Amino acid sequence: MAGEAQPDCLFCKIVTGDVPATIVRETETTVAFRDINPQAPTHVLVIPKAHYPDAASLAAAEPTLAADVLREAGAVAADEKADGTGYRVVFNTGAGAGQTVFHAHAHVLGGRGLEWPPG
Ligand code: 5GP
Ligand code: ZN
Repeated sequence: MAGEAQPDCLFCKIVTGDVPATIVRETETTVAFRDINPQAPTHVLVIPKAHYPDAASLAAAEPTLAADVLREAGAVAADEKADGTGYRVVFNTGAGAGQTVFHAHAHVLGGRGLEWPPG
């Protein structure tokens, strides 16, 4: 069924606590935790607790949950004081774009200058 936890999914295991993570925020529907390989002073991943393989499938199935993820991304940036200087929210989608974990997640990056276009 759509949104069900997947036994082999790393981020589903972070949701259940089977894989440890440095959690910075949690709501009824989302978890935000620090990326294990940070690319900026602030690098936090915001995920829905429900499993969807990417942002588009999440938004199509549960638009309210997709909005929860976006709202939490903004809240993380505010918590980290990255909202004043600017920050980036990224959803890598597909292996060709660098997606390696197929559980929808927003990268929240900030705390340094961010170039455009990204590589
Ligand atoms: P993607 O490449 O799919 O857009 O992003 C996956 C992110 O998950 C990467 O930035 C990677 O560093 C991070 N990541 C991979 N494994 C773990 C883990 O076990 N714990 C945490 N906190 N982050 C992870
Ligand atoms: Zn998952």
